[in-house]
Amino acid sequence: MAFKELDTAGWQALDSAHYLHPFTDHANLAKTGSRVAVRGEGVYVWDNNGDRIIDGLSGLGCVNIGYGRPELAKAVYDQMLDLSYCQSFFNTTHRSAVELADTLTSMLPEGLNHVFFQSSGSEANETAVRLIRKYWDLVGRPEKRVIIARELAYHGSTHMAASLSGITPMHYAGGDLPLPGIARINTPYQYRHGANMTADDFGVVAARWLEDKILEIGPENVAAFFAEPAQSAGGAICPPMTYWPEVQRICRKYDVLLVADEVVCGFGRTGDWFGCYHYGFVPDIMQLGKGLTSGYLPLSACVISDRITDVLIGLGGEWAHGYTYSGHPACCAVALENIRILREEKIVENAKAELVPYFKAKLETFVDHPLIGDVRSVGLMGGLEIVKDKKTGESYLYEEHIGPYCSAEAMKRGLAFRANGDTMSLMPPLVITKDQLDTVFDIAREALDATA
Ligand code: PLP
Repeated sequence: MAFKELDTAGWQALDSAHYLHPFTDHANLAKTGSRVAVRGEGVYVWDNNGDRIIDGLSGLGCVNIGYGRPELAKAVYDQMLDLSYCQSFFNTTHRSAVELADTLTSMLPEGLNHVFFQSSGSEANETAVRLIRKYWDLVGRPEKRVIIARELAYHGSTHMAASLSGITPMHYAGGDLPLPGIARINTPYQYRHGANMTADDFGVVAARWLEDKILEIGPENVAAFFAEPAQSAGGAICPPMTYWPEVQRICRKYDVLLVADEVVCGFGRTGDWFGCYHYGFVPDIMQLGKGLTSGYLPLSACVISDRITDVLIGLGGEWAHGYTYSGHPACCAVALENIRILREEKIVENAKAELVPYFKAKLETFVDHPLIGDVRSVGLMGGLEIVKDKKTGESYLYEEHIGPYCSAEAMKRGLAFRANGDTMSLMPPLVITKDQLDTVFDIAREALDATA
């Protein structure tokens, strides 16, 4: 096959014939055909026809540093020439993994001192769950089994990660999900569940749903509370500042491990380096992914507190868990270079000072749009919730959702603008400029107008 000679239709035909895409209606894709992306630089991606798209989504909430940084490519190249692969068992280690583990733990709250690496956020969540269960077994409390997770959560696509997720289509995708041992509480979604309260009051009320659930199940049976600091795929659901400190108090009171899935929130998305700093809490386990490498290579980290590793390491014996690509040298090298650039160029700090207030103000101009019922954001993660009736807040039924139509209208105009249900999400790279944000919001408005 002379791939070089293929035109767009040729690529689309091959794509349809052989490549199953994630989260895609393939019958529909066969009609529309895929866009063939060929190049990325900064906040832009180009397709093979030369059309430019401004990436309002940082890929999938991962390309925090922007596309095409040669330093990252060089870090991978150098690492691959030195040592392209290293299995980290049989008493072997390598420098990039050790340096990255040390770097990460130095950036995170005190007491989080060990890191387990894998390739994806889903796998990091699998690691966290196995670790939680192992921990309670080791301390002689195996009845502490139930993990409490939230509505609208997204934790990934593997069996356990999908089970923890509260976005219900994840359960219907196959596999008799959710797996047993998971309980669910509502999420701090003020527009839907607390519109009559102040944000501060609602944060405490929503946190107490966790306490109610723990008491209902019995604290002696509850292993952990598992949540994203702010929910991204659930529709940019950003809790009030009172929520997390109260959640932490409740977890400590009932001896429930607090697990923060920071796969999206980590590395600057909330305006601070990590969601736990932004919201003021310290988890027992934290998962990182996406922004860890800015999406240049797949890598995730499960960061674990001394409370757990003291038992796991202290009691000895092998923990039979791991992946062929745990701590892959090239992935660790690219993460280190990504962190170096983020730090040296003060990308997170500059985004917080310059971009976050601008992004929020721009987003809030949509309050008056006839389609928009709620506007919410934290850092550079924002959501515009489309409603059927602005006065009552009535939503479109699932089969009536118009968000995907709005996404398509934005894409026609050169903006990646995602529909999570009917919440239109924006998560631009942290290196976007104010001018580029103006373009993002101009196109977003045109797309919404075309949808209205
Ligand atoms: N956790 C959160 C909060 C996520 O948003 C995602 C992916 O979007 C995941 C976990 C799963 O990560 P991955 O797709 O790398 O498996």
